[in-house]
Amino acid sequence: MLAETVTQPEYEVPESETSFERCPYCERPFRTDELLIHHVGSNHRDSCTDEELEAYEAVESDEEFELFTFHVKAAVTVFMVYFMFSFMYALVWA
Ligand SMILES: [Zn+2]
Repeated sequence: MLAETVTQPEYEVPESETSFERCPYCERPFRTDELLIHHVGSNHRDSCTDEELEAYEAVESDEEFELFTFHVKAAVTVFMVYFMFSFMYALVWA
């Protein structure tokens, strides 16, 4: 026996919203292309086209790269602050 869907998702898009994309598989509206690509890639992986899957993977690797650069910047900042305080300490006590 198949499980019955209890809730039917409903999406209300306000009249003022003019530029949005709809998922071709489940009709869910998205404000930007990127959100739609992400949704299709993660929720309709089995039924989406190769193009959509490629777009999803490109978006994903961009995100990973951005996160990596953020980590590098954060590490460098902490390192610089550490050295700044070390030098100040050395100067004060010199
Ligand atoms: Zn969908």
